[in-house]
Amino acid sequence: MQKVSDVFKEKEGREVALRGWVYRHRTSGNIVFLVLRDESGVVQVAIKKDKVGEKAWEKANDVYIESSVKVKGRVKKDERAPGGAEIEASDFDIIHRGEPFPISKDLSEEFLLDVRHLWLRSQKMTNIMKARGLIVNYLREFFDKKGFYELPPPIITTSGCEGGATLFELNYFGRKAYLTQSSQMYAEVFIFALEKVYVFAPSFRAEKSRTVRHLAEYWHLEPEMAFFDHKMNMELQEEMIEYAVKNMVENHPELLLKCGADAEALKKVKAPFPRMTYEKAVEEVNARGGKMEWGEDFGADEEALLTADLEKPLFVEKYPKKIKAFYMEEDPHNPELVLNDDLLAPKGHGEIIGGSERIWEYDKLLERMKEHQLDLKDYEWYLDLRKYGSVPHSGFGLGIERFVKWVLNLKHIRDAIPFPRTINRVYP
Ligand code: ATP
Ligand code: MG
Repeated sequence: MQKVSDVFKEKEGREVALRGWVYRHRTSGNIVFLVLRDESGVVQVAIKKDKVGEKAWEKANDVYIESSVKVKGRVKKDERAPGGAEIEASDFDIIHRGEPFPISKDLSEEFLLDVRHLWLRSQKMTNIMKARGLIVNYLREFFDKKGFYELPPPIITTSGCEGGATLFELNYFGRKAYLTQSSQMYAEVFIFALEKVYVFAPSFRAEKSRTVRHLAEYWHLEPEMAFFDHKMNMELQEEMIEYAVKNMVENHPELLLKCGADAEALKKVKAPFPRMTYEKAVEEVNARGGKMEWGEDFGADEEALLTADLEKPLFVEKYPKKIKAFYMEEDPHNPELVLNDDLLAPKGHGEIIGGSERIWEYDKLLERMKEHQLDLKDYEWYLDLRKYGSVPHSGFGLGIERFVKWVLNLKHIRDAIPFPRTINRVYP
């Protein structure tokens, strides 16, 4: 049994056997033109009445889009056929005829989301999911080469680390618990034995706003490194992004093209990435027609202004302490700022990474937690980490779907994940 992609490598006249699904179907007199799809791609099959048995001819006329079928035939080189070859069938059979497929042309986005379990078979979604898988593999490969360990964090937790407003609460045998918003605090646990680690797990955020870059459930890659400062942290981030993008551009140009990515633009994504302080970024936003004050966070519009004409992602660093999470280390040159960075993707795709140096001393962390009015008993274990052999450390979180959205140039983050969860969708 061959695959569709083999057909284009085979010589004229070679006998092949394929199985897959009907992608397109039309009859023209005594010929059925059928496009067959399998995991590896699509190929045209010509089934001629006088070249196949009577039964096979009947069946070839009796399929639906998405019926599963088997074909035998010979490879015919044809310049006009997509990929330069087609199959002239000698036999044809149906595995499962099924029912008329509910997806045809020009259906609304909402309908396609309702039948997401079927729409995932489309060439569009298939290509995106292939690319997503490859991107994740390259990220893992990067950390593997750097000597990182991957560990699994818990998903059910008792405390949030990004603020209460977006926590999903659940009833845990009569007690309150939450779906994790970030696994960073658990990643910090692991560095005291393994030094350089990452966790790759879903994070959950009850995002109430409808944007093209927020999901309620997304995949979060969170590296954490002992003895890394703010600068080393940013250097690792840009090296990681460059590695994954470079491998996609060099090894999968056709797939990128099919997904609608701008491969030429991606070729320019090389470290070092530009860096800008928060303060400067606020001035830039205002200079480019935006309106914001020191102490406010960037929204989608502000991020778009900052990155509209960039070729590489932009680091914005050293935000005001008061708008950032409690665990971020203070800037030694200015106690109002923290040693953090947000990495903004070019062309308004928005923030893909949030990172920081962490507070590693017990007294400082305790003081900051009190300022943030956190319930200390929820965080005792986290404070413990600063009691026994604490070390300076840093880490960051990359939103996989945000990264995929940028690399593949997708309009909406929901297409970067098979089953998007948003405020108005939790089915299928
Ligand atoms: P934003 O300001 O865009 O809401 P954030 O500041 O809440 O982002 P972090 O808490 O720093 O984001 O999370 C780390 C990374 O996780 C982000 O840089 C982004 O890539 C990703 N991320 C955050 N929230 C979401 C979400 N709701 N859906 C998808 N990815 C997200
Ligand atoms: Mg957010």
